[in-house]
Amino acid sequence: MKVLVPVKRVVDYNVKIRVKPDGTGVDLSNVKMSMNPFDEISVEEAVRLKEAGTVSEIVVVSIGPAKAEETLRTALAMGADRAVLIEAEEAVEPLAVAKLLKKVAAAEQPDLVFVGKQAIDDDCNQTGQMLAALMGASQATFASKVDLEGGKAQITREVDGGIQVVEVTLPAVITTDLRLNEPRYASLPNIMKAKKKPLEKKTPGDLGVDITPRLAVLKTNEPPVRKSGIRVSSVAELVQKLKTESGVL
Ligand code: AMP
Repeated sequence: MKVLVPVKRVVDYNVKIRVKPDGTGVDLSNVKMSMNPFDEISVEEAVRLKEAGTVSEIVVVSIGPAKAEETLRTALAMGADRAVLIEAEEAVEPLAVAKLLKKVAAAEQPDLVFVGKQAIDDDCNQTGQMLAALMGASQATFASKVDLEGGKAQITREVDGGIQVVEVTLPAVITTDLRLNEPRYASLPNIMKAKKKPLEKKTPGDLGVDITPRLAVLKTNEPPVRKSGIRVSSVAELVQKLKTESGVL
């Protein structure tokens, strides 16, 4: 069984981002970049399936600048076998990403595609769903558990009211949620080995996909600054303040 895992290079989740003074976007100069956390979870899940003998090959793919090679090398160090980098210096919107991934999937013929539920930079939560539709494949979103058996996958999803279990026929696109697993750190020997693993480079043009943006960002703002809280000395004082000051009661 073959698994395809798209991995996106994004601003590290620990970074406190700054909006550019002209409001055209987020300042990315000298900012630490890392693999999107949900994509780390996807790679981990694929590697666990390989360790269990269910999966024979893991291909990772990233669409992004030349530096996205680092992100792919991290995925290779975690245990992926091969990587494909589709080089694009400009930001690529989810629909274009999905079209590019569809081309890669057509060439690779994976049984499963593990896509992160969302990229933490733009929080779009669109790519996996669009990819499944373009591929004409089954889709299951927000997986917190994946069980494979006999050409089918059972996916446990955390939904508002509790837990939902769905079954899909492979090939399928599964989007991964936070509680699916805890990704490993790559060991030093594996980081060294990953440098020699195959990494193929392509361009959107090679795949015949037009990545011209369809959306225009009008403005990016910092969130409003929260007012600091106050400490009350008793429940009576709290109730009184809720009644007289905040107007909640
Ligand atoms: P989004 O729909 O942008 O929130 O992204 C959801 C998921 O799609 C991510 O977690 C990745 O698995 C995949 N993805 C989005 N953009 C890219 C990209 N540029 N390169 C590789 N994978 C991507």
